[in-house]
Amino acid sequence: MQLRTSTMIRRLATIGAAAALATSLAACGSSEKTINQETGDGDNTGALVGVTMPTRSSERWISDGDNVQAALEELGYEVDLQYAENDIPTQVNQIENQITRGARLLIVASIDGTALTTQLQQAADQGIPVIAYDRLIRNSPNVDYYATFDNFKVGVQQATSLLVGLGMLNADGSAGEADGPFNIELFAGSPDDNNATFFFDGAMSVLQPHIDSGRLVVRSSQTDFDTVAILRWDPETAQRRMEDLLTRTYQGGVTVDGVLSPYDGLSIGILSALKSSGYGTAGQPYPVVTGQDAEEVSVKSILADEQYSTIFKDTRELAKKTVEMAHAVLSGDEPEVNNTTDYDNGEKVVPSYLLEPVIIDKSNYEVLIDSGYYSAEQLG
Ligand code: BGC
Repeated sequence: MQLRTSTMIRRLATIGAAAALATSLAACGSSEKTINQETGDGDNTGALVGVTMPTRSSERWISDGDNVQAALEELGYEVDLQYAENDIPTQVNQIENQITRGARLLIVASIDGTALTTQLQQAADQGIPVIAYDRLIRNSPNVDYYATFDNFKVGVQQATSLLVGLGMLNADGSAGEADGPFNIELFAGSPDDNNATFFFDGAMSVLQPHIDSGRLVVRSSQTDFDTVAILRWDPETAQRRMEDLLTRTYQGGVTVDGVLSPYDGLSIGILSALKSSGYGTAGQPYPVVTGQDAEEVSVKSILADEQYSTIFKDTRELAKKTVEMAHAVLSGDEPEVNNTTDYDNGEKVVPSYLLEPVIIDKSNYEVLIDSGYYSAEQLG
């Protein structure tokens, strides 16, 4: 097997061959192929690839897993696909098992992006490259590549769509007729998921100026990430937080006009709290609630005028891009990346490929049908 220069360098360094490292650095052009020290025979045909996904509790991860597996198998690889139901020790064990079983490459969508340092060191010691899938793995030098969507942009889009829903902005970006002030509440994703901060920072880059000017009012005053983050993206936790907010802050005729929700699953919990509190009627419509992932039930909820919007991240494209990366690495080639600046994992800036997310609301949901993501029948 052949591997790219930096992987070989890492490997050599781990066996303490500092002198060899210096020599190979001097000798190798960055595109020059090198011989893998472990597998030697240069052939990864039919090699085992370990794929770990966080949970089956969300539709998107099921599609991600299925799509990655199918694309790898199409190329002749053997695939070990595992789900950990959001349990960190389970995911750790799954990765350790894949290493023991002789996986030649790992694709990991982490639960806690900071919890895999030891396992990734084991992988590196055995010359197994690692691709972070959708979520960046943090605090490890042993992450070779990262395939994801433009996560900051996802947050910008969520906030933009919130403003459009409130009427402060038109879909074409021009100023809308509504001035506010509007009451909004903020939710963020799981604090151990690197994406959650990107989504929140992206959203706040749009919302903060309007909060500062008083056009948007966060009546609970809960605006910092740690306070509004929902551990493990758990819909019930979001529902409870929304119930609390409604009880404490929205009494005596004061209503909430918008809710920044970073994920469709949380939006379901939030809408459920709102419904129990009397929203969702002709006299008291739901506030503008955002989302992410374009999950089937949530798209239906948008069509039923409950949730306002979601963000479509075509998981077929992410799987395709990731498998292209994996195949390049396993063939000794340099995978294509388009971002080498934004994803610092605490140890290194991980070369990344970012895909484009798309805002979906009732006015353009056909995008999901036209692209074949859902059939018209599925969405009713
Ligand atoms: C993903 C989102 C998803 C969330 C919850 C994030 O890491 O990027 O697409 O909504 O996890 O599963």
